[in-house]
Amino acid sequence: MASVCFNCGRTLEKNEYFVRLKDGQCVCRDCADRTRILYPLRFTKVLTESHLPTWIGDKSYHEQIVAGQRLDPLADMTPEEFRAALEASEKAAAEQAERYAGAKAVIEADHVRKYFVNVGSAEKPRYNKRKVYGVFSRVIHGELIPGAQVAVSHRDRDYTAAVGELQEWDGMHPGGAPIGKAEAGMLVIMLFMQEMDFVYPGDTLIVRGG
Ligand SMILES: [Zn+2]
Repeated sequence: MASVCFNCGRTLEKNEYFVRLKDGQCVCRDCADRTRILYPLRFTKVLTESHLPTWIGDKSYHEQIVAGQRLDPLADMTPEEFRAALEASEKAAAEQAERYAGAKAVIEADHVRKYFVNVGSAEKPRYNKRKVYGVFSRVIHGELIPGAQVAVSHRDRDYTAAVGELQEWDGMHPGGAPIGKAEAGMLVIMLFMQEMDFVYPGDTLIVRGG
């Protein structure tokens, strides 16, 4: 049976991503994304027991492993609560547009990670000095695209760098799938082909308008 987005009335395609509300009704991704500015997906790491036993001689035990858990605040909402959330989010987006007037995108940094690029092969890996830096972050305003110049200000000066590649981040893993653009509320990894030692957790990065 085909599902319909209760908010916009669109019929969801087979295998299309959607959010199921508390009462079982579906919300399509487009409608859900419009609330992410106030209701982002959250992630938590849970210490849990592996279901496969580890054996030492004839004794077995279950190892503790860290598993990620994805929490969607929309899943706890009734349709009425979702509509209210959407209205509040659109108001917040308008307020942000005013606050960040002229900025194409505003991004909040979570952490920076250094990658070593394998210039050899899978069988014979070889790492050279060229490093790639991933800035794990959340888009809080506007639209971010690969190639954008992000700027961050610290007491001493302004720093800028161009986003080499943009990936969608699931909030847990150190890699993601490349995307062509990211909107407010989305978690992303911005990959830079240069050192990003001037970005600190909680920093606000701005893409200035033309
Ligand atoms: Zn919809």
